[in-house]
Amino acid sequence: MRFALKMRLEVDEHTAAVLDGQSRIANWLYNHLLEEANALRQRYRETQDPDAARVLYTERGLRDRIPALKQEFPFLRAVHSSVLKNAALRLSRAIREYQKGRRGERAGEVHWPRFRSWKRKWFSLLYDEPWKGYALRGRVLELSLGQSLDPDVGRRRQVHVAVRLAEPLPDWFRHEMVRQLRITKEGRVFYAVFTVERELPATRAVGRIIAIDPNHKNLGYGVDTDGVATEIANPWFLKALDRRIDEVKSLRDRCRRKSVRMVRPDGSVSWRPSRRWQKLNAVLDELWRVRREQTKVYLRTVANRLYREYDAVFVGDYTPHGGGISTRMRRAMNNQSLIGRFKETLKWTAARSGKVYGEWEERGTTRTCSACGSMAPGGIPPEEREWTCPSCGRRHIRDENAALNGLARVLEKLEVPCSGRLGGPVAVRTRRAWRFDGLGIREMPGTAGGRVEDHAASRQEIPSCAT
Ligand SMILES: [Zn+2]
Repeated sequence: MRFALKMRLEVDEHTAAVLDGQSRIANWLYNHLLEEANALRQRYRETQDPDAARVLYTERGLRDRIPALKQEFPFLRAVHSSVLKNAALRLSRAIREYQKGRRGERAGEVHWPRFRSWKRKWFSLLYDEPWKGYALRGRVLELSLGQSLDPDVGRRRQVHVAVRLAEPLPDWFRHEMVRQLRITKEGRVFYAVFTVERELPATRAVGRIIAIDPNHKNLGYGVDTDGVATEIANPWFLKALDRRIDEVKSLRDRCRRKSVRMVRPDGSVSWRPSRRWQKLNAVLDELWRVRREQTKVYLRTVANRLYREYDAVFVGDYTPHGGGISTRMRRAMNNQSLIGRFKETLKWTAARSGKVYGEWEERGTTRTCSACGSMAPGGIPPEEREWTCPSCGRRHIRDENAALNGLARVLEKLEVPCSGRLGGPVAVRTRRAWRFDGLGIREMPGTAGGRVEDHAASRQEIPSCAT
């Protein structure tokens, strides 16, 4: 299995300027080759010149132009050959995609490649071979650039820079897993993205299982085969960040986007946003980056904790509920995508630790009484966190009842061999809540409307494996 391992980098000011320079040159090369490609395209249309077609439409046609360009533009030598090569290959790929689009081999419309604006998007630096042009010593990542002319000796010498991984590598990381490295920049932050090839451990037999009901009020509410109920709290920082994002966004949108008129040398007119708009936009980009980063850490921490305790995690398939939440649609959508990403994170954590991830069908699990199996007519309104079963009189915590039903569905369908632990009914013995404090998870006694005296009553028969 091949996947990306993205590591934040600590980069000092000088090195940041050097990397920016590398990216600018790669961007320049891309645009320069595109200029040539445009001319070749014109020539091919007029003369059907096969030489033009060969450069333009083959995989390596443009790449093979690089040696000549290095003669003509010596500053290209300052960049590692792999980075230059990949700027050319990227353009050739874009041209071939366009060709495929025209031949109808590709869905959707594909444009002929356009000039890239370095200011709008940082051109990433790709080292496409294992450990060629880069080396890792502890957490220090050394990157080879191109060559610089040493004026004293009159000779070219290889230039290197060193950056540092902001966090330690995961403990499963091995050098021989790395296939390639890409250096990217988002906002003002640099990342090293390693493409890693890894055999995944074989799936183990399942002992402890938790079924989680995903939610709006919290990320999810789980019940496990040992009778422990866990409320996983939503991250508080998202609320604060979202408020700030809304503020800055409304400030930015009050500025006019098209406020500075520019006339290009060729007489055409373009508009630029005001300085204030640009400044607010940069703040907004940074806030979004922080939001993405913190969300990732949160989800990863929760997933790691779950798989430390459980062999299998099953999550409700989350059919969005209508009605009461429509007023808060946007935030709800946010949470929906949070749950989507939570599932992705769980899937991945399970895969790499040889554990099990699955989903259970959520339809009807909220309104079905986990004690007697009867359905509450008309369902349970979203704002009701607790309800009483009209048939058997059992008092339910809304999410816990759904999770208990989920667990029953999971155990019913479970195809993995289960251990003896699963024999007998599951009843909720204890309740706890997990809160993420930015670093780790704090475990607290469950509140969530939990009524401890209910325990004895909330005994539930679930189908069990033959023991
Ligand atoms: Zn009932």
